[in-house]
Amino acid sequence: MIDRDHCLALDAGDPLRAFRDEFVLPEGVVYLVGNSLGALPRHAAERVRRAVQDEWGGQLVGGWNQAGWYGQPLTVGDRLAPLIGAGPGQVVVGNTTSIAIYQAVAAALRLRPERRVIVSDVQNFPTDHYMVQGLAGLLGGYEIRDFAAGRFDDAAVVLLSEVDYRTGARHDVPSITARVQEAGALMVWDLCHSVGAMEVDVSEADFALGCTYKYLNAGPGAPAFLYVNPRHHATAENVLSGWHGHAEPFAFEPDYRPAEGIRRFAVGTPHVLSFAALEAALDVWERVPMDQVRAKSMALTSLFVELVGDALELVSPADPAARGSQVSLRHADGYPIMRALIDRGVHGDFRAPDVLRFGFAPLYIRYADVYDAAVTLREVLDRELWRDEKYAQRLAVT
Ligand SMILES: *Cc1c(COP(=O)(O)O)cnc(C)c1O
Repeated sequence: MIDRDHCLALDAGDPLRAFRDEFVLPEGVVYLVGNSLGALPRHAAERVRRAVQDEWGGQLVGGWNQAGWYGQPLTVGDRLAPLIGAGPGQVVVGNTTSIAIYQAVAAALRLRPERRVIVSDVQNFPTDHYMVQGLAGLLGGYEIRDFAAGRFDDAAVVLLSEVDYRTGARHDVPSITARVQEAGALMVWDLCHSVGAMEVDVSEADFALGCTYKYLNAGPGAPAFLYVNPRHHATAENVLSGWHGHAEPFAFEPDYRPAEGIRRFAVGTPHVLSFAALEAALDVWERVPMDQVRAKSMALTSLFVELVGDALELVSPADPAARGSQVSLRHADGYPIMRALIDRGVHGDFRAPDVLRFGFAPLYIRYADVYDAAVTLREVLDRELWRDEKYAQRLAVT
């Protein structure tokens, strides 16, 4: 049986071990929620302070030029691009994932005007599906079909997450992209639960998007990213035709005229202070070997699955290659169990109706953390510590 010393030895031999020191993590906490809100990069506070005091305080409106605020959606997009297998001039950063979904799906529909079916995964994170419903409602005349139906031959667009937020199951990006495109539809990938957790390659996709506050550690409210394949740059339209996507925003022309290239997918004024934290996170990512991240991620999730054993039903795929960097477990009393765990320093989260989620961010989670989390979970279950009534009451954010 695996013991804690074995895990400590794994940590000592971990090629990524030094990265943990680059993050602020509270004492006594095993933080397995990096798939929801990534930890704070240690130097982000100083980077944000500079943006506030030196740039905003010192340069005032001059910061748009001097500090490069105006260009951030594209300059930061270029920094982020290698993490998703994209090149320079292919990624724009800003807004939220929900908005990027709307832009991508709407643009895809306009590229396939003769088709009237949107394929979306009803199991996907709700906002993805909600945004599709809102768009279809606005346009009228569209059918929304569940991805599970497996039929794309009359679809305009398919929207899918690479890694399912609830189960952690991972879709095969190259084969699904090829199938969708062979059927004449366009492929939009949501990378919220894969970027920063594994090597991602969207170079064949038509559109891709995701958030930066999960595995990428850019902080609460950090801007999202949108990738548009260069083959669509000249023809894809941004239905959110804000002034930052205009060919000449400062010409203040009466009519919208889209910018060339990826910049046409910008909308409005960038969230400058949030960009500062994202830039700090990317300072770390630029030094990270992603193949090692994926190798460690698979080792961490496998270790957790093994240590938990049959104490709880495994919702995630048993094969580590078929899942993301999370392990989901099922129990009818999942909510109080998670509350009892958090009370003992092991932070996961709960997704209704009965799923306990544990995310393993390879840059700062150690093998010994996995051991401690599994032992604590078994103790909460064996001693039924979760039955304490203080764990039954639901908090607003689970
Ligand atoms: C986290 C997540 C989102 C978040 O959307 P926001 O607009 O940034 O709140 C969307 N989709 C998926 C699949 C997610 O995992």
